Amino acid sequence: MAKPIILTLDDDPHVLRAVERDLRVRYGKDYRIARADSGSAALELLAEWKRRGGVPALFLVDQRMPQMTGLEFLERASALYPDARRVLLTAYADTDAAISAINQVQVDHYLLKPWDPPEDKLYPVISDLLDDWQVAHQPAFDGIRVVGHQWTPDSHRVKDFLARNHVPYVWMDLLSNSEAQGLLALVEDAAPALPILFFSDGTTLANPSNRAIADRIGLQTIADQPLYDLLVVGAGPAGLAAAVYAASEGLRTLVVEEEAPGGQAGTSSRIENYLGFPTGISGGELARRAVTQARRFGVEILTTRRAKRLQVDGPTRVLTLEDGTTLNGRAVLIATGVSYRALQADGMPALTGAGVYYGAALGEGPSVRDQDVYVVGGANSAGQAAVHFARFAKTVTMLVRGASLATSMSQYLIDQIRGTANIRVWTTSEVRQAVGTDRLTHLVVTRDGGQRSETVEAAALFIFIGAEPRTDWLGEVVARDAHGFVLSGVEAIAPSPVPDGSAVPVPATPGAGRASTRMGRRISSSMWALRLPGMLETNVPGVFVAGDVRAGSVKRVASAVGEGAMAVMHVHQYLRDS
Ligand SMILES: Cc1cc2nc3c(=O)[nH]c(=O)nc-3n(C[C@H](O)[C@H](O)[C@H](O)COP(=O)(O)OP(=O)(O)OC[C@H]3O[C@@H](n4cnc5c(N)ncnc54)[C@H](O)[C@@H]3O)c2cc1C
Repeated sequence: MAKPIILTLDDDPHVLRAVERDLRVRYGKDYRIARADSGSAALELLAEWKRRGGVPALFLVDQRMPQMTGLEFLERASALYPDARRVLLTAYADTDAAISAINQVQVDHYLLKPWDPPEDKLYPVISDLLDDWQVAHQPAFDGIRVVGHQWTPDSHRVKDFLARNHVPYVWMDLLSNSEAQGLLALVEDAAPALPILFFSDGTTLANPSNRAIADRIGLQTIADQPLYDLLVVGAGPAGLAAAVYAASEGLRTLVVEEEAPGGQAGTSSRIENYLGFPTGISGGELARRAVTQARRFGVEILTTRRAKRLQVDGPTRVLTLEDGTTLNGRAVLIATGVSYRALQADGMPALTGAGVYYGAALGEGPSVRDQDVYVVGGANSAGQAAVHFARFAKTVTMLVRGASLATSMSQYLIDQIRGTANIRVWTTSEVRQAVGTDRLTHLVVTRDGGQRSETVEAAALFIFIGAEPRTDWLGEVVARDAHGFVLSGVEAIAPSPVPDGSAVPVPATPGAGRASTRMGRRISSSMWALRLPGMLETNVPGVFVAGDVRAGSVKRVASAVGEGAMAVMHVHQYLRDS
């Protein structure tokens, strides 16, 4: 198979030769290194690759060129090859241009000239970006082929699960792909349940559960050890950060994740405000890196497993999973985040997964190509999704209940939305009904604060209307606030209102009294006779909480990561003293 291509573009022959040489030394074995000395020459190369099937993986482009600037070239190149990684080569004086380009063209990185030594300044950046690209570009025949009907909830579930676990697959729609029909004809079952997964060894799975897919592709679903130092529930940023710190400091650590590692952050098309990633990073990529890092330190990550109960058995904290399996830990971290609130409008439940999606459903980008799509919500997550889908869809309409985006969205995103021609924002508008038989076809939308109603054609609706914790599984064991968020620190054992409206006072010696919480029952207060709970500790000694699920937390990736790391410090203290 032909090698993927790295294209370098510079009008200065000396610089061009030097970049080409450095790239060839490190990447020449696996990539073809192509070069061009002007934007127009480079565009000719792209056109030729389009005709002959060349696959560019990365463009490394000088900004300052006479006829066509690097940015202008990247803008045109990304229309042809949206997945190729884009790096701008700039002089120090052009740094500002490079930074503004990040929003304009979504440049993946900018590098300053000179880049000596390349081992420090060039290769780490290029290698990271090529790794990212590789993940999204496994050759089709190496991956799984998924055959089914586009607009069915199970097809969406399977694609989403594979994508979020970074498993390469090719989607083949039975309606439009004759090869898909040919493959289906090979299956012995006359009417197999769809979608059906074809593996490279010739085996198939018909409409498998996520657990069955996980088992088939070798994701870990069963714990190896009888007892862990730390059990982490939830593999979002908080859980993964805790796992990395815990395992790197020698704790036997197991993470239990119901869906796929990454959590909400894993569904973000581009996180732009996480420290250390000046050009932003996709949530999927951040999750992939975190998982790699955690596994390198020996963390076990169980996917497709849901924690259903937490119990205290002497010094052991016992987690029961949905199938009754129990896991034992000396300490537990609850990092289960929050999940989307359901949109209350007619027709929603029946079309969820068939055109109506909660969250970004990033993998649906290609399926909405050249169509009209709608995004509900006015916060950053909705803004990111609108910018993401604008790369594929004909139009993206944001339906915002408030009067403007300014109160709920970061300015950088508002600027990006303003600068994207095919995004329109309808403020004071709401969805009233989703219409369609097998899939979403129309939406009934009210506008101007409900004064008029409109029926619009819609290929997809992506919903981002806030979230709530799903902590019912903690039952009476762990104290939560009225909204279900987990209480921590002294608040977790503080007095709370009792039915007559008064408050049960905190005893002078914590542990000498008993207080009820609004949700969940206090664990025997005698457990707190000798010390108070740590800052991220719940009312149950040895059970900690971090990230979005914690009452009073800041709902951000950075704070989730920070709390995950901090919780490990408390875990160490607890294990040492218990
Ligand atoms: C689309 C989108 C874009 C965003 N963009 C940004 C951004 O640009 N910048 C920013 O700072 N923040 C952003 N956020 C917010 C950020 O993603 C969250 O604050 C962060 O992910 C919280 O991390 P967490 O680990 O606490 O929880 P989560 O990310 O919610 O992870 C919790 C995990 O726990 C799992 N889980 C839940 N219950 C169970 C159970 N019973 N058993 C097993 N597993 C369970 C879930 O499946 C999930 O994977 C965005 C959020 C969304 C949805």
